[in-house]
Amino acid sequence: MALARGYAATDASKPLEPFTFERREPNDDDIVIDIKFSGICHSDIHQARNEWGNSSFPMVPGHEIAGIVTAVGAKVTKFKVGDRAGVGCFVNSCTHCATRDLDLEHYMPGLIATYNGFEADGVTPTYGGYSDHVVVKEGYALSIPESLPLDAAAPLLCAGITLYSPLMHWKAGPGKKVAIVGMGGLGHMGVKIGSALGAEITVLSQSLSKQEDGLKLGASHYYATKDPETFTKLAGTFDLIISTVGADMDLAPYLNLLKLDGTMVLVGVPEVPASIHAFSLIGGRRSLAGSMIGSIKETQEMLDFCGKHNIVSEIELIRMDQVNEAYERVIKSDVRYRFVIDMATL
Ligand code: NAP
Ligand code: ZN
Repeated sequence: MALARGYAATDASKPLEPFTFERREPNDDDIVIDIKFSGICHSDIHQARNEWGNSSFPMVPGHEIAGIVTAVGAKVTKFKVGDRAGVGCFVNSCTHCATRDLDLEHYMPGLIATYNGFEADGVTPTYGGYSDHVVVKEGYALSIPESLPLDAAAPLLCAGITLYSPLMHWKAGPGKKVAIVGMGGLGHMGVKIGSALGAEITVLSQSLSKQEDGLKLGASHYYATKDPETFTKLAGTFDLIISTVGADMDLAPYLNLLKLDGTMVLVGVPEVPASIHAFSLIGGRRSLAGSMIGSIKETQEMLDFCGKHNIVSEIELIRMDQVNEAYERVIKSDVRYRFVIDMATL
């Protein structure tokens, strides 16, 4: 066992604080990553505050991990010491599915979350990226393209893949009109990746305060959802709507913006269940769907795509001791567009 330093939530109602814990020594198929940067996802906040009712404490959040490999096990072939490596939302999965190479391991039972989960033994907690190092099976680590700055690439490990996967699955590309709801950490990645895929991107944000950024990052149109005219003007417009909103909202007005056979995909996870009337779907044979992160294979594909198109997150780099203040600012939508912790300040 090696001692690790990090920041943890010890209780749902307490701020994060310094925390020391143990990481395993690397096995033959493990790599050790010296964590350089760790993104702050809104899911970290939902879980640190037990908003989804599934939290276990103490919790070291962080699933947008970017760093440098400092040791490799004897059987490791993908990485060598000195390589850039990332870890996203999970660190292990059902080996049955993994060996069958379904590349849908993130939807299978047996997925082991990077934090707020338990190792395969069912008792050893997993601890995330707000820490100095992580030990992970090489098959669950990602290669970060050399062309991308490591700090701004960190959020690709969750925010990037969470938007890339539904954009690919629902075939966003030339000729497709796609709306991204919420111009936050996930949303701004949807704008960048969706426009790089060739789709026509519209941002639906609460206000126009981030309009200039949205258009600069690749959106063709930008509308305020607090303006009721937005919903009359855009009725029946979109092939695909992806909602990144993690707060309670009425889905009906958004579903009405879909074309015939259009799909609205939820990636944001509000605390409370949504309620919709059947008429919101049946009139236009519309679909309401969900999507969760992406497989390891797809995450690597996304990183390579971003490397090729020079896509990273817009970030605000912070010190570790600013994490609690950053959480408050994320809740107020006061971040452009992802906080990333410089782990050298731990
Ligand atoms: P974020 O940075 O806080 O962005 C969410 C955006 O939603 C905000 O920037 C804001 O955009 C909009 N918003 C906030 N409150 C709202 C409200 N009351 N009504 C309408 N819009 C509101 O969060 P994030 O890190 O992108 O995460 C977003 C959600 O996705 C969270 O629930 C998170 O847990 C979830 N998530 C899901 C997955 C997955 O695999 N499905 C992966 C990661 C995260 P505007 O200011 O532009 O309106
Ligand atoms: Zn996340």
